[in-house]
Amino acid sequence: MGNAADRGADGAERIVIENAYVATVDAADTEHASGHVVVAGNRIESVGAGPAPAVENVARRIDAGGHLVTPGLVNTHHHFYQWITRGLAQDSILFDWLVELYPTWAQITDELCHAAAQGSAAALMLSGCSTAMDHAYVFPRGAGDILGAEIEAVAELGMRFQPTRGSMDRSRKDGGLPPDNAVEDTDEALAATEAAIDRWHDPSFDSMLRITAAPCSPFSVSTELMREAAVLARRKGVRLHTHGSETVEEEKFCHELFGMGPTDYFESVGWLGDDVWMAHSVHMNDSDITKFAATGTGVATCPSSNARLAAGVARVPDMLRHGVPVGLGVDGTASNESGELGTELRNLLLFNRVQWGADALTARQALRVGTVGGARVLGREREIGSIEPGKLADLAVWKMDGVLHSGIADKVAALVLGAAAPLSLLLVNGVPVVEHGHLTRVDETTIAANVAAASTTLARRAGLA
Ligand SMILES: [Zn+2]
Repeated sequence: MGNAADRGADGAERIVIENAYVATVDAADTEHASGHVVVAGNRIESVGAGPAPAVENVARRIDAGGHLVTPGLVNTHHHFYQWITRGLAQDSILFDWLVELYPTWAQITDELCHAAAQGSAAALMLSGCSTAMDHAYVFPRGAGDILGAEIEAVAELGMRFQPTRGSMDRSRKDGGLPPDNAVEDTDEALAATEAAIDRWHDPSFDSMLRITAAPCSPFSVSTELMREAAVLARRKGVRLHTHGSETVEEEKFCHELFGMGPTDYFESVGWLGDDVWMAHSVHMNDSDITKFAATGTGVATCPSSNARLAAGVARVPDMLRHGVPVGLGVDGTASNESGELGTELRNLLLFNRVQWGADALTARQALRVGTVGGARVLGREREIGSIEPGKLADLAVWKMDGVLHSGIADKVAALVLGAAAPLSLLLVNGVPVVEHGHLTRVDETTIAANVAAASTTLARRAGLA
């Protein structure tokens, strides 16, 4: 692996960004009102105030006057396949929404998931996201290579990716929520998870693709699968993810079925630890937060989805105060049709202030959750999430001198509180994947057409149209 700071120093082509407002989101929250970032190959070589130092092999020099440079945003919870089931079950709480949508999701195929993944990744990238996880957990029999299709789709667009091989094995006949045709056999799910890790997981520093083991939720997964997935993940050295404490109904389900709340249940099956992160964690008592903090268990908070499904507002300020790792998530777009991560910064701050008061979160704390907080949750804080020499060159360059943002006193506040900011450039691994608000590698019109066709096909397969 070598010394990160040395990599790319000799012979690498450089991109020099100058004259920008730079928010590094390093440990000291260092910002430069007029600063530079030098990228060499796929690494950040230098960052600081004023013009860039003299360097060789400059392939591109960018005058970023009027721009804000931040680390690329990190998305810590999503379901990419849901991009082709948006706008359904508009007025339901989680359990009713799931029961309405499961039969449609049980009809997905690898081809449909390719289109959905490109829609999901496009929305993320166009809103400043450079690294995303995807919680894939629906693998209907005969649906083809769903995870392979998603991985290919995202690689074509150029985003750093951390998909999960998720699973469900507790259907209605076993007291769970999903229909019987949407779940897998326990052993099959475990074998497929191990196979996905063996096939794709790249643990290297520069990795563009890591796999996570992710049984779906307490109400769709057997206790045996929860336990065995944790054993498997630790044997293979990958992370663990699931949904937890999302709604009051889930809490009631856990008390009825397991005789304890979700956090105590997770503890009982070996699911608290610094290699685990949970989606949502909305309904957490003081003891739950203490357990997460003590074990380093992370949280993906998803403000818009939690609002869409009327689940509540997570105790993000309390979690941060106690040292719980917290990242930001879009969640599946069947419960957050926007699919943008940039605007989640705003909703994170606003919803937490409505619920917990004016001092709940600052704009800079929101940006921290959306960048290095997410990197920590994904286990990648050494590599991404802040602008520091030696880290991977994942950078968002936001245009702040247009009609929507010019004159806002503080550029970080403009990004978090202002309108969705136009993105002039997104670098992932040193490669420009968004330029002037558009994807560089795949035609957006084609993605849109493929998504429309896939949505129609899936609706027909599910008998909705
Ligand atoms: Zn979810």
